[in-house]
Amino acid sequence: MRLHFPALALLASLSLLPPAMAATTTSPPADRTIQGADFTRLSQRFLDAFWQQNSDWAIQLGYYRYATRLAAPDAAERDARLRFAEQWLARFAQVDTQRLDASQRTDLALIRNQLESQRWYLSEFREWAWNPSLYNVAEPFSLLLNTDYAPLAQRLRTISERLRQVPAYYAAARASLETPTLEHTRLAIEQSAGVLNVLGEELDQAVARAKLSANERQQLKLRAQAARAAVQAYADWLRAKEPALAAGEARSFRIGKAAYEAKFQHDIQADLSAEQLYQRAVSEKASLHCRMAALADQLWPKYLPDQVAPAEPLEKIRLLIDALSVHHAKPDALLPEIRRQLPRLSQWVSDHDLLTLDPSRPLEVRETPVYMRGVAGASISAPGPYNPKARTYYNVTPLDGYSPAEAESYLREYNDWVLQILNIHEAIPGHYVQLLHSNKSASAIKSVFGNGAMVEGWAVYSERMMMESGYGGGTPEMWLMYSKWNLRSVCNTVLDYGVHVLGWNEQQVRDLLRQEAFQSEAEAAGKWRRVTLTSVQLTSYFAGYAEIYDFRERRKAAEGERFELKRFHDRFLSYGSAPVGMIKTLMQAQP
Ligand code: ZN
Ligand code: ZN
Repeated sequence: MRLHFPALALLASLSLLPPAMAATTTSPPADRTIQGADFTRLSQRFLDAFWQQNSDWAIQLGYYRYATRLAAPDAAERDARLRFAEQWLARFAQVDTQRLDASQRTDLALIRNQLESQRWYLSEFREWAWNPSLYNVAEPFSLLLNTDYAPLAQRLRTISERLRQVPAYYAAARASLETPTLEHTRLAIEQSAGVLNVLGEELDQAVARAKLSANERQQLKLRAQAARAAVQAYADWLRAKEPALAAGEARSFRIGKAAYEAKFQHDIQADLSAEQLYQRAVSEKASLHCRMAALADQLWPKYLPDQVAPAEPLEKIRLLIDALSVHHAKPDALLPEIRRQLPRLSQWVSDHDLLTLDPSRPLEVRETPVYMRGVAGASISAPGPYNPKARTYYNVTPLDGYSPAEAESYLREYNDWVLQILNIHEAIPGHYVQLLHSNKSASAIKSVFGNGAMVEGWAVYSERMMMESGYGGGTPEMWLMYSKWNLRSVCNTVLDYGVHVLGWNEQQVRDLLRQEAFQSEAEAAGKWRRVTLTSVQLTSYFAGYAEIYDFRERRKAAEGERFELKRFHDRFLSYGSAPVGMIKTLMQAQP
């Protein structure tokens, strides 16, 4: 059977039309002289200058030209970054947007967003003064050690040069921190062990097997020693601060309403305000509960025939979810099952004319490499802009490291129904397919400055769209589990705003997740920790989803008979990972 969710369509018609996108269509003043090919050259120059300043990020993306540079995060460096943003914003203000094609216009908007964001983060948000965990040198060192982009000896020379700058780096960190939060202080202390490990054992092993001269080896050894001492001193300094912070001197990790709204605008770039999105998530939660209760009634006699259904709807839903969750793959069958499902998903997408796929670029399912194992059970590794020929991987973390109880809990979470939704989200037609499309309109700018809410929003939207197409049989089981999964992004939005703006405490978050989102104790605990360390990011899933869904419904209503889902999706995905609002403007400009 198929279910229809009229509440969403109603919400869609109430949502706001895009404001202030008019900037791209007003006629340019006469001094805007940069156009077409000039713009492409300018943006390439910009990107190289950007990498010089952000050498850590560049290393992550496989751009090694400035890999020896480790800037000390001091006041002079922050000034330089602010000037950089101002100067480039002024330069890009010379661009005549009328003379750019859609792809270049998207690039220009992404660059501007990046620079304006950079300015706001440095001068208003000022995380550099209160988040000790920002100061962490480990990842680029780890990447330089583990990525085979050049012979090991050459990579170690780069590492040696970076190591030389580590003591100044941590001295600047200490001088920059004013009033840290307790939570980020504790995180930084915890993470120092990992940093010491990268600069210690991992590095020593690489040095031992590399072809270096005795001098180089000795110099590396001394520099590594000094670097480790600097990390240790930083951690000790934070440890010494901790008691006073715990006693009440710390800054609150809650960023408050004004900063939250501003950060939401910079990070998400949605048409709604953060508060509007929060309100919408709250009512979405209520309608999901309502539908889930009806599904639970329908399924009750099949799964729990010998029990009387409780009157309380949330309790009834929980019992049913528990009863369904025992249907799951065996631990060693998880990976083969994912492999088995992917071709079926492709087939379904083609058979139902949902969007265009590219069979020449297969997705490889693999066990998550050890150095990447951590939080997520499943993820997509996509080639960066400087390594476009690399494969795309679907990483699945094997359950060997789990206790039997942990493995069981994980498998119940990713039960037979949710596993299908996970594959939709991560692979087809979610993240993997979005990436393939985005690589067609390839520009380095688009893949570097892609919008997180668009990327996550598309993956969440694609789950919904596949459900609407009847994937998984359109059974009540499938809809119930889909709804549980969807509640996760809805509740992430609610709790992120609840904690940072409305001052919710840990108990309120746990109650929401345990009672209203049917999550496990471990998940709820992990989420509390995440919301104390991040802000706004948790809203990106629902923000992007809601905006894409609304937009589609409006186009459907406007085009009537002429509306074609496949054409809509292919067009939507053709602008790279631009913010949804920008894609809407571009699509509306070219009917
Ligand atoms: Zn089981
Ligand atoms: Zn995702």
